[in-house]
Amino acid sequence: MKISEHFTLEEFSFSEAAARLGLANTPIAIVIRNLGLVAAAMERIRTLLGNRPIVVRSGYRSAAVNQAVGGVTTSAHCHGLACDFVCPAFGTPAEVALVILKSGIEYDQLILEYGWVHVGLAQEGLLCRREALTKRSPWAPYESGIRA
Ligand SMILES: [Zn+2]
Repeated sequence: MKISEHFTLEEFSFSEAAARLGLANTPIAIVIRNLGLVAAAMERIRTLLGNRPIVVRSGYRSAAVNQAVGGVTTSAHCHGLACDFVCPAFGTPAEVALVILKSGIEYDQLILEYGWVHVGLAQEGLLCRREALTKRSPWAPYESGIRA
């Protein structure tokens, strides 16, 4: 089901880990609503990146899936408020994160991860912190700013 011009509900709710481990990852109504906000943000990012295709790595993660992949328990992914993605036709994750950082695009958290970019949104009604972080490996601490 299309939830914006270029994004579907399925690509934001697919989880390779869920499929592999037989865990449910079906979004409930509030999560679907939140994924609509994420899709709208991703459309703005897609435009910013020259209308190049975006590959969604992870969107919604149920609590069980999030635990299985070692996500932090407060993860915005559990509310359907985050997207991990790459845009190889534009550049590396660092190049993508830097362009988003310099844009006026609203986000709560922008994280340059080891191999992809994480964009998290605030819950509806809450202010965006516009926090930018870098995480260089699964074991590394979060560093302030986007550090290529
Ligand atoms: Zn993420």
